[in-house]
Amino acid sequence: MNPSRTIHNHAGKLGAGSDPIAFLHQKNTRTLPSLLPLPSDLIRFSGRETDKQIAQRFKKEFEIDVDQIREVRSLFPEAQPIADKLKPKDIRKIAIEALRAYTQAWKNSKLTNFSNHYWGYSMQLQTGHWELATNIEHARDCAYCGERAAFDRLWNNKIEQVPVEKFKDKRSLEHLRKTLQVKTIVMADAETEIPYYSSVKAGKMSPCSECLDTINAGRYYSPETQMMMLCRDPSSGEFYLGFRQMKDFLPVMGKQQVSLSDKPIESLPLQFSERAKTFLNKKGKGKSNQRDTSWWESQIKNHLKAAQAEYRKPGEPPKGTLKNIKHLDSKQVYVATLFNRGDYSQVATRVENSKRWNTPAEICAEIMAVHQFSNLKNQGELEVNLMAYYGDDPVRIPNLKSLGPIAALRGNPETLLAMIENGTIHVRTIRDYMPYLYL
Ligand SMILES: [Zn+2]
Repeated sequence: MNPSRTIHNHAGKLGAGSDPIAFLHQKNTRTLPSLLPLPSDLIRFSGRETDKQIAQRFKKEFEIDVDQIREVRSLFPEAQPIADKLKPKDIRKIAIEALRAYTQAWKNSKLTNFSNHYWGYSMQLQTGHWELATNIEHARDCAYCGERAAFDRLWNNKIEQVPVEKFKDKRSLEHLRKTLQVKTIVMADAETEIPYYSSVKAGKMSPCSECLDTINAGRYYSPETQMMMLCRDPSSGEFYLGFRQMKDFLPVMGKQQVSLSDKPIESLPLQFSERAKTFLNKKGKGKSNQRDTSWWESQIKNHLKAAQAEYRKPGEPPKGTLKNIKHLDSKQVYVATLFNRGDYSQVATRVENSKRWNTPAEICAEIMAVHQFSNLKNQGELEVNLMAYYGDDPVRIPNLKSLGPIAALRGNPETLLAMIENGTIHVRTIRDYMPYLYL
């Protein structure tokens, strides 16, 4: 069959030439799942319901009157004016989505037994189109988070509904890309017995480092993407929506830089973040005199120099060594890592099996150190104290995907990261990059 003819027929069926946004709104009726409590662990579908019917059912099950939720409290005071702009109609809709996300995660908790994490997400595109998802765990070590699952549904449903003709025109493609931006993410956690959080728990909720890496490096989110969660004020018992923006979870979103210098690293000034200063003060306590700030400063510069030396190595690198892997991608990042045991250091770059399948530099350094200290009874005793970056791939300085696993076992959220930006050595901690990192 002639392929172009097939495409033409397909476009005709979908309504070629119609406005994709209007088309989406027409299609925005959906089959809704049954709500808690379920009579058994079986999943049933209750058929089509209006938002009002859904709200009524939740009111009964959870004693939450969704209509009473009229308040959005920004967990960052400076963003309160943005939260205040949400209309009561939108707030009510978000509250309903939070309860739906909770139900989705609750159902998952009855089906899945690997991680014991049950998170639900409802996600909205700029077009107003919503989709729902929870984490999918195929096997213990093969899991897919709800944030990414929800975006996958949004993405596929959206482009399925847009006529083929719209993909042939440059201008409409440009418009389409804009409409694929995520406007709102609503989070819920079914690990709790009730679909809301104390304000303490709500304050700690965050996507994992793998999802944050996707969001940070990807093109469908912005620092202004809204993050919402249903909360309850512990003092008054009243419900409200907790409001954040992606930039609260990822303060460096879109601001990461290359780490390069023409000047001698020795001559560059150092600048410590507040969290990095706190780390140095703690590390200095009870240790020998050599662990004072000047010791750390010289370690930071020495590690940057070591990473720089590998980056600048001329010629064809020898094969088979981790620190001299030839990259498929022209962008390179070297990380010099300082471990706690015997001040052991390791320089590494990423290993690329293909552009798509690669092991980040931070993890490669960790693997080499684990090999070196394989006789340790408790691998948690091997910690990362510092990672110094030199390279020209800004989104991978640091590689956020690596920081979660490293903080979970080899370090902590206050582990130091050093890089050169505009002639200054900046020293920060993992938490400076992901303040609400979920471990
Ligand atoms: Zn995740």
